[in-house]
Amino acid sequence: MVSGGKTRVTILGATGSIGASTLDLLRHGRDRFEVVALAAKRDARGLAALAREFGAQFAVLADASGYSELKEALAGERIEIAAGREGLLAAAQADTDVVVAAIAGAAGLEPTMAALRPRRRIALANKECLVSAGKLFMATARAKGAEVLPLDSEHNAVLQALAAGSRAAVEKVTLTASGGPFRLHAEERLAHVTPEEALKHPTWSMGAKITIDSATLMNKGLELVEAHHLFDLAPDRLEVLIHPQSVVHALVAFRDGSVVAGLSVPDMRIPIGVALSWPERLHWAAPALDLGSLKALTFEAPDLGRFPALRIAQAALAAGGAAPTVLNAANEVAVEAFLARRIGFPGIPALVESVLERAESRALKEPATVEEALAVDHIARSLAATLLLQFAAKAS
Ligand code: NDP
Repeated sequence: MVSGGKTRVTILGATGSIGASTLDLLRHGRDRFEVVALAAKRDARGLAALAREFGAQFAVLADASGYSELKEALAGERIEIAAGREGLLAAAQADTDVVVAAIAGAAGLEPTMAALRPRRRIALANKECLVSAGKLFMATARAKGAEVLPLDSEHNAVLQALAAGSRAAVEKVTLTASGGPFRLHAEERLAHVTPEEALKHPTWSMGAKITIDSATLMNKGLELVEAHHLFDLAPDRLEVLIHPQSVVHALVAFRDGSVVAGLSVPDMRIPIGVALSWPERLHWAAPALDLGSLKALTFEAPDLGRFPALRIAQAALAAGGAAPTVLNAANEVAVEAFLARRIGFPGIPALVESVLERAESRALKEPATVEEALAVDHIARSLAATLLLQFAAKAS
């Protein structure tokens, strides 16, 4: 994986929260890492500044309308630039050792699939691509000889805990969830929460979409699907516990009664460092976990009545087929609608569930190609857009 002593890294989604955490970590390890390509959607100035700072060879915007701004911002630099879908796919395929897949949403599926290459590591943050087309993604990675390591803190903890025993001896994998900002809200109060309140995550600082997903607990549902595909675990071996302190990220119970847990300060640079250097351990000024200063570590079962998104995602995982693809697309539409104040907070799971019900009658198949995944995604978004009009009309 290492060329000329340095690990070559490409970041898809460089201007986002995961992109920023990854680049911050790379600042600590300039002697070990080298940036090849950086990609974003439309933040031309932000991307240009990062490309210049890290001496990237290639800077790409997925949104073609940002091309001239990027060109202007990087005038005089020896950095190749591109924009649009082809440019993004070229960035994903650029010669590199690790691709950090950190685009938000199903938009990450096509470029992350394109990044699957022999002997290449995919440090995967974009869980939506596994929810949308997990079987296809993992089978393609295996066929191409690419290695997929999770950045998500819970899955990253599972990866580490699994090193303590054989996969066949795993009894149960528990993913923890902070419970989000509304963990203690009564059901009636949830109807009135605002996007601003939902965007205030108690323990993690993240992009808008995943922060809303954390508030509804849909994020944990998406993570169950992610874990199912990443670790080839049956849905009934996966469970969720609410753990508001976000210190224990996951637990793996083995059949001999031993439980191995993954703990750290809630700082994404820690799992990112693991995914970049695994099985070696990066040496950097990582924030240390001081358990003695914590009053308590608590765990409780999730309340599926107040947070039905988790129940809906669990049902989609159990149903299989195209249901997770539909779930993911409908959720993306619902989150955007909530952020745009078109629906209330409980409207997010309600819309997703209605789309899943409607989609059932279409007998959609589990996607076997990226094109099929994008087609199912498109159908689900259209259904969601139609239902959204009814939801919004009822709310007004
Ligand atoms: P952000 O919204 O902060 O960043 C998203 C990044 O993706 C930005 O660089 C954005 O570019 C880029 N982007 C968005 N749409 C496209 C597109 N169509 N084509 C190309 N680039 C695009 O998200 P996060 O960093 O929070 O999350 C990224 C992924 O990581 C998500 O899948 C999330 O679930 C996952 N994740 C995030 C965690 C976190 O702590 N943030 C933790 C675990 C997983 P631009 O800035 O130009 O819009």
